[in-house]
Formats: sequence, C-alpha cells, structure tokens
Amino acid sequence: MIDDLAPFPELALPELKPGSVWLVGAGPGDPGLLSLLALHALRQATVVVYDALVDERILAMARPGARLENAGKRGGRPSPKQADISLLLVELAQAGECVLRLKGGDPFVFGRGAEEARALVAAGIPFRVVPGITSGIGGLAYAGIPLTDRDTNSAVTFITGHSRDGVPPDGINWRALAEGSPVLVIYMGMKHLGAITERLIAAGRRADEPLAIVSRAATPHQLVVETTLGEAAEAARRENIPPPALVVLGEVVRLRATLDWLSRV
Ligand code: SAH
Repeated sequence: MIDDLAPFPELALPELKPGSVWLVGAGPGDPGLLSLLALHALRQATVVVYDALVDERILAMARPGARLENAGKRGGRPSPKQADISLLLVELAQAGECVLRLKGGDPFVFGRGAEEARALVAAGIPFRVVPGITSGIGGLAYAGIPLTDRDTNSAVTFITGHSRDGVPPDGINWRALAEGSPVLVIYMGMKHLGAITERLIAAGRRADEPLAIVSRAATPHQLVVETTLGEAAEAARRENIPPPALVVLGEVVRLRATLDWLSRV
C-alpha cells in the first residue's frame, strides 16, 4: 500500500496547512477508490472529522497520532446539528489544526458539503474541496450497473428521497422525472420507498420496470436486490436491507446480469 507520496514529487500535491480545512470525499467504501489528494490529506491531517459512512479501513490510513472525531456522535448526542459540525470545523481550524473533513462519496453530492463550505467562507477559513467518487456512480459500478448505455438511455438523474424535514420531497416534479429521465438514481430513498415508487407509477412509469436496491455498495457487505418498480417496497420489507442503500430504476439494471464483475473476481 502507498503510505507516502514522497516518491512521486512530480505530483506536486498541495500541503494541508495548519489553520485550514480540506473537505474530502472518501468514495463509496472501497479504500482503493480514494483519490491521491484524499490519501495525501489523510497522511497530513492532525484532526479528521468523519461521517458514519466512512469505512474504518480508510480511517486506519490517517497519520499516526491524528485525532479522529466522529461527526455523527458528538458530545454523546446521536445526531448533532449541521451547525455544530460546521462550528467544530471552524474552531479546529482557528486552533491551528490541519483539518480533514472526510465525507462518504462526494462532499458536494447530497452530503451537506456546501453548507460546511459556506460556514468556512463566512469564518474566513481557507479550504479546499477534494471530490470523491459518489456512491450513485461508483457504488452502482460495483454492483455491475452502468449508469448509461447507448441502447437504453442518454440521460440519468440523481434524486434525494429525503428532504430537509424528513418527508418525501414534494419539491420534486415526479411527473417530469418519470417522463424525462430514463434512469433515476435515488439517494436516501429507502425510508419513503413506498411513497416514491407509487408516485413514479402514478406519473406513468411501468410497474414492471427493473429496479435495483444496492446496499453497502463497494464494501465487503455489498448486497444487491433486483426487483421491479411495482414490487420494490415489498421486496425491501422482506429482505430487511441494511443501510446505506441506493435505489436505481431503469433498463440499465438488466445489464447487471452480464456485467456483475464483482462476484466473478
Ligand atoms: N455524499 C454521499 C451521499 C450522502 S447521502 C455520496 O456522494 O455518495 C447518504 C446516502 O448515500 C445514503 O442514504 C445512500 O443512499 C447513499 N450511499 C452512500 N454510500 C453508500 C454505499 N456505500 N452504498 C449504498 N448507498 C450509499
């Protein structure tokens, strides 16, 4: 394993300076999907503030002695407010730490990275964003599901199934999505899967259209349930699928029958 990028001086990777924050995407799970910049940040950070979605094998790559802070469990409270996490980042930077904010997937995809970045801007803290492989792309690739294929679709849409107040997002124009996007990838869609699938069927999608639920994608516990739009909610109840999980709807799901490479390696 590469644990030092010094042998590659031509990379000229930037330094994570004291008093600054890097907002970094850790990818969907497999540590091999980290970017070089993410690895570089792990090797330099004095404090790593991480999300529940970040794999332990990735945290194990942090520089020895680095403080690891679970942003999901601050001060014994199970679910801190986003404002608390942003404040923590600001305070750590102001205390002169080299701060790595490590998030699952990509920090700017349904990950509230933009809110944290805005707090850093407001506090005048220098920061950098390191994109990660979002689960809706990389995780589905590990499930053997390509997001596009010339035979099936030339567009794909990413949706959150959960709004700020926890209800299924009514701000979404389900009819427009149902009619306009042949492939839908739904993050945080499990809680309201019944309501979401009903809306899509009411908006004209076929109940027998293939749908896959991909749980813990790109981790050793990856589980893929192939079903249909009409049967998805019942399948999810029956299989008791562990989080995190993605839902993907569209003809591309059928390609998994040929392209499920992970179960063959
Ligand atoms: N920023 C993250 C998404 C955060 S929202 C990203 O870019 O991937 C959290 C949702 O992401 C989960 O509810 C789930 O739908 C999805 N997710 C994240 N990691 C996942 C994984 N390894 N397997 C399946 N779904 C995942």
